[in-house]
Amino acid sequence: MADPLDDGVALCGELTKPIPKSDGQGRAASTILCIAAFGVAVTEVLRVAEEFDVVCLGGGVAGEAIAVGLQGSGLTLAVVERELVGGECPYWGCVPSKTLLRSGETLTEAGRARVLAASRVDWNVDFPKISTRVRWMARNLDDSRPAAAMEATGAKLFRGEGTLTDSRTVMVGSQELVGRRALVIANGSTAAIPR
Ligand SMILES: Cc1cc2nc3c(=O)[nH]c(=O)nc-3n(C[C@H](O)[C@H](O)[C@H](O)COP(=O)(O)OP(=O)(O)OC[C@H]3O[C@@H](n4cnc5c(N)ncnc54)[C@H](O)[C@@H]3O)c2cc1C
Repeated sequence: MADPLDDGVALCGELTKPIPKSDGQGRAASTILCIAAFGVAVTEVLRVAEEFDVVCLGGGVAGEAIAVGLQGSGLTLAVVERELVGGECPYWGCVPSKTLLRSGETLTEAGRARVLAASRVDWNVDFPKISTRVRWMARNLDDSRPAAAMEATGAKLFRGEGTLTDSRTVMVGSQELVGRRALVIANGSTAAIPR
């Protein structure tokens, strides 16, 4: 093959080096050799694959349940989360919505006091106050405690967008995670308008 550095042709391909597929610690490696256009820069990126018994895409309620369920089983688990550990429920779903509802209920009850027990009850709705409480109940979008709780189960947490590359493999950035026994897709759902 012509030397790509000679004529400035870009070459970017994957070369598998003759290094062991696994080093005995659940790690395998391959090397990507990328020669940039015009042959100026030669970058070598080491892509490391880590093997686990189970890889779970998504660290929401389901991901947390899997981590707790596998705790003490002897199976290794990797959880991939691109946003907040805990998922929708504590930050955007169950907890904030119920906190909002509770504020409404309280005002409704106060209104009933006028009928049942008081001659006069006055209030102004203070939305900033409600909103501050909602955010506080949603842990101010801080997932450090649930993340620590997840890792305390023995699961390894990977932060970032996970992409399925095959039925056993998830890529997170340049990190390759292989699920030896299972790959769990627990990436939640989005709302859709029925046709
Ligand atoms: C307004 C509202 C109120 C609700 N109230 C209640 C309630 O009162 N009680 C109740 O039981 N349920 C309630 N729910 C539903 C509840 O939030 C969901 O059932 C629950 O969050 C589902 O958990 P999950 O783990 O399947 O998904 P999610 O909680 O959505 O978690 C999925 C996770 O996967 C991550 N993820 C997705 N794609 C990728 C990727 N490619 N790479 C890495 N990470 C990724 C996301 O960041 C997310 O953290 C409510 C939902 C809403 C919207």
